[in-house]
Amino acid sequence: MTTEAVLVIDMVNDFVTGALECERARRIIPPVKTLLDEARAAGVPVIYVSDAHLAPDVEVGLWGEHAMKGTEGAEIIPELPPGPSDFVLEKRTYSAFYDTGLDQLLRSLTIDTLYLTGLHTHMCCRHTAADAFVRGYHLVAVADGCDAFTKKEHKEGLDYLKNVYGATVQSVTDIVAGGKTLAG
Ligand code: ZN
Repeated sequence: MTTEAVLVIDMVNDFVTGALECERARRIIPPVKTLLDEARAAGVPVIYVSDAHLAPDVEVGLWGEHAMKGTEGAEIIPELPPGPSDFVLEKRTYSAFYDTGLDQLLRSLTIDTLYLTGLHTHMCCRHTAADAFVRGYHLVAVADGCDAFTKKEHKEGLDYLKNVYGATVQSVTDIVAGGKTLAG
């Protein structure tokens, strides 16, 4: 038996329309919404993990100010509001596992399989996948549920997740229609 959770990474204003705007991010909103609605209906936990930076963070030095803790830029986009049973965690590096309490939460929920959605496929999704892999979680990279600044970066990210971390790559349509996942 597997127990699953859906991770939503960095779907905050600054990554979609703000400081680090990503044109391609808009296209994943409808599929992610579909997946989250399906997950909630099936009792599958939905966990948002988003940047909430402090000024001295190494990433801020590299990328400039983005998703600063407490600002509108760090708020989850209005199109994908967390539901009452969802979990919302903050991070300060690429990985959703680094000093966020995510691993502890997943273990408390006895989760062994993670659906990865959000931004960006080749950066935060990839770093999160690395930390998930070494902790023994199975990964499903949601092909139309994550994206990057360019199609090339997105594809390279998906390939890396598949080849290096053994992720299954599936579309939301496959996941929802397939019935063998999401508590089906
Ligand atoms: Zn950041």
